Amino acid sequence: MCSQSLFTQLLLVVWVLLLCTDTTHAQNVSTKKRDKLVRKLVAKMSVAEKAGQMTQLNVDMIMEGDLFNLTQPNAVDPEKLHKAIVETKAGSILNAGGHTWTREFWYSLHKAINDKVQETKLKVPVLYGVDAIHGCNYTAGATLFPQQIAQAATWNPNLVKRAAEITAYECRASGIPWNFSPVLDVARQPLWSRVFETFGEDPHLASVMTTAMIKGYEGDNIADKERVAACMKHFLGYSFPFTGKDRTPVYMGERQLREYFLPTFREAIAQGAHTVMINSGEINGIPVHANSKILVDLLRTELGFTGLAVTDWEDIKKLHNIHRVAATYKEAVKIAINAGIDLAMVPIDYDFTKHLIELVNEGEVPMARVDEAVTRILQLKYDLGLFDNYVYDFDYYTEFASESHQQAALQTALESITLLKNDSGILPLAKSSKILLTGPAANSLNILNGAWTHTWQGVDDKWNTPKKLTIMQAIAKEIGRDKMTYVEACTLDEAINIDKAVQAAQSVDYIVACIGELPSTEKPGDINDLTLPAAQIELVNALAATNKPIIVVIAENRPRIINAIVDKCDAILMTYLLGDEGGVAVSKTLFGDNNPSGKLPYTYPRYVNDLMTYDHKFAETLDTKFGHNAFNPQFEFGHGLSYTTFAYSDLQLSTTELAMGGEVTINVTVKNTGKRDGKEVVQVYVRDEYASITPSVKRLRAFDKVALKAGESKQLNFVLNTSDLAFIGLDNKPVTETGFFEVLVADQKIRFEVK
Ligand code: BGC
Repeated sequence: MCSQSLFTQLLLVVWVLLLCTDTTHAQNVSTKKRDKLVRKLVAKMSVAEKAGQMTQLNVDMIMEGDLFNLTQPNAVDPEKLHKAIVETKAGSILNAGGHTWTREFWYSLHKAINDKVQETKLKVPVLYGVDAIHGCNYTAGATLFPQQIAQAATWNPNLVKRAAEITAYECRASGIPWNFSPVLDVARQPLWSRVFETFGEDPHLASVMTTAMIKGYEGDNIADKERVAACMKHFLGYSFPFTGKDRTPVYMGERQLREYFLPTFREAIAQGAHTVMINSGEINGIPVHANSKILVDLLRTELGFTGLAVTDWEDIKKLHNIHRVAATYKEAVKIAINAGIDLAMVPIDYDFTKHLIELVNEGEVPMARVDEAVTRILQLKYDLGLFDNYVYDFDYYTEFASESHQQAALQTALESITLLKNDSGILPLAKSSKILLTGPAANSLNILNGAWTHTWQGVDDKWNTPKKLTIMQAIAKEIGRDKMTYVEACTLDEAINIDKAVQAAQSVDYIVACIGELPSTEKPGDINDLTLPAAQIELVNALAATNKPIIVVIAENRPRIINAIVDKCDAILMTYLLGDEGGVAVSKTLFGDNNPSGKLPYTYPRYVNDLMTYDHKFAETLDTKFGHNAFNPQFEFGHGLSYTTFAYSDLQLSTTELAMGGEVTINVTVKNTGKRDGKEVVQVYVRDEYASITPSVKRLRAFDKVALKAGESKQLNFVLNTSDLAFIGLDNKPVTETGFFEVLVADQKIRFEVK
């Protein structure tokens, strides 16, 4: 019996080895074929054709009417198309024409572009890219998932991978092979307008989610009908502007950059991500688009990235007119291309291409640099299968926006929701309750979705997906319209009729106040004050004064300060930006069909001037005579309640002494001690007690999400290697030092020593 199973195992190993060798062989052959074709094409290209390949235009450049005029009908302008494709030889196009298009329109657009390409000498297919950042958000009817921050709050990488697979499928179903996603910037500056686009503040959580998303988008082969090329953005250090405002200066040491901001990108490259978008901003006075230390030494030489590097929007021109490190646009082109940019998201002028041609002819940009860039662009086009199939068959995509896709979005939304407070177990509510529903987020699909939804800023409800329910509509469906009184009471920043809401509160059992933030991103999302707008605070305060139980539901882009209302409400549900299924998910959670299991992917600050992360230093936490202003957030990173309770016990280690290079297994038992089934995120933190660089009070090193039936308990095991305990040391390289480490899992602690 034993030898038989050994034989079977051996056979299996041989088979797997053969399979791997086979796949590697096939890959090598196809890479050789690709490289041969690309070399041939590059050799045939004129300077103008090469500069054209390196030019990416916004789609408005080929559409009728003025740039960004949303009221005009979207139709291709034949003359503009000719200028872009035949005269300029542009190799790439991005974006939707200001708003969502139907699949049919997308296909007609691709056909027009590709027909035009056939009039060019080399007939190189155009590379089309969009920001499909929470579902294929520029295609009408597509499945819209929670934004990345909410996906991170699930702490469930399987859901993130599935969301990316569906997004890739629906992008290809729209003829789009390239997605400018994921955002791999970590959110350690809560003011920043793009916090919602990230996986939160922690490099480990964000890296796990990065792996899931890249795998979901790219699979094993980006030429597949159901996959797209991912774009890791924005390399590097974009998310930590000193002022909190988008694209303003970052001041940061190399150690910090490597410790917190690099790991997600390193992980994505290890997963084979094909493209990268560069940070629009500057670090320590050097715009990243001009910094070859980051674009070449770090990205290429150290991290080994071989894919395509695209600029962000107009960022070469901005070296001249914003950053002012180039006296002319032409000089800016020279700086950026020589620094390592492959493709310029120009995207709304023809000067870039003209300048680049001149610079090459003048010997200011070496031909070898241009050839390298064009090679990477053509390799990507080949890898995506564009030379064989510019788009795949329209009718293949029968699962577009299917029931199962919508269910995946709903499941993600349900697991994103984070119960921040639930005094006396007030939630879930009985479906027989009479409720007052109020607040600006109660009846808005836009506020639940956030920016990058049908339009860039996501505020125009004209394009919303039909039949998707707001919180109000979902609750009405759930408990019956007769049990719900709805009063809008205030907009996001203006009181309308708070008195009416207060009056209506008298005749209900509970108040549900849905507050939130205007969908916005990038510069339009800049704010001067992290506090939630005053009108909404006023609304909750007025309602709290009625002494009726009050539940606050928050839908927001970033953690807005709410300390004025936290103590006055009985329960708080954090929804981040849940997408099109958000209304249903909130309703199911309020009334107990969903037991919340989300955990905060960032530290929720209590005060506007007290912005700290969970992994702060001991100096920020000491409770000395003068330490009264130490770390004291509103809610901690990783916090999130459930309708059941969990108890931890038996935290044990496989060893308490481990040699450098060795590993330790951490065991812990978790029990569902309540009366409902639930899911718990088991978070393993490690504290390096003493180190040569001031250690953090703790770092998340592992986690797992586990489903437990009422009364059930499970033992979980986590394996950590000494390299998992590393930090960026004195020489800016990862190091694990000998000494004592403390493992912290919920209320359990245990120590081990690395020798
Ligand atoms: C954003 C990028 C985005 C690009 C294309 C830029 O303004 O910073 O994240 O991918 O536009 O839409």
